[in-house]
Amino acid sequence: MTQIFSIVELVQQLEALGVHSGAVLLVHCAFSQVKPIEDGPLGLITALQEAIGPSGTLVMPSMTDEEEEVFAPERTPCLGMGVVADLFWRLPGVLRSNSPHAFAAWGRHASEIVAPHPIDVPHGLDSPVGRVYALDGQVLLLGIDHTANTTIHLAENLAGVRYRRKKRTPALENGRLRWVEYREIDHCCENFRLVDAWLHERGQQRMGVVGHARARLARAREIVNVVVEQLRRNETVFLHPFGVDAECDEARASLADA
Ligand SMILES: [Zn+2]
Repeated sequence: MTQIFSIVELVQQLEALGVHSGAVLLVHCAFSQVKPIEDGPLGLITALQEAIGPSGTLVMPSMTDEEEEVFAPERTPCLGMGVVADLFWRLPGVLRSNSPHAFAAWGRHASEIVAPHPIDVPHGLDSPVGRVYALDGQVLLLGIDHTANTTIHLAENLAGVRYRRKKRTPALENGRLRWVEYREIDHCCENFRLVDAWLHERGQQRMGVVGHARARLARAREIVNVVVEQLRRNETVFLHPFGVDAECDEARASLADA
């Protein structure tokens, strides 16, 4: 029989991992790896809120699935970010930023984290992940590895990498739809897995189990520091060689005119 973890047990697991009262906690989660637990996705959110307490701040990615539609914070789903993230923004007391690159937040610093942020630089210092970093927040990966860790894009921004991919997103202007075009630091992100070993070498990542999932916890500042160091040594450390995937090809090709 598969054990069903209770909310009380989940809180204990989070505390054993190093999640503490008052923390600013940015969570990326694959719930399929966490379950079965009491109350499902809502039970996990409840456990996270209890572990950080009323002085804590819980943050989750909330970016749109609808690349062809104008983002509406009160109704655009974000199932691509997982069932927990797509439930989180709908809960009472949770705020969501008004951007196709939205994040949602609950608790003490929620309103500053979801304050307006620019469309054309989704993960710079002036963005929800940048604000979590500035608040010395932690990143919690549940059942998912660093390929989902948006804070690494913040580090790419701070390191000043020159590769970009062309993106566009629809926006309303005087009631008319218009495409906002921009160039974003992006690629397939598979090689974000390298960050695991970099953090381990420095003893800067706690490993544990939450529900049934493998869990990783690290400070945003330590993630950014180690990634910036590596990128200054080798700007293309995350990019596949030409011919592996279209995203990395586009990013590499952009360096020619950077
Ligand atoms: Zn790639």
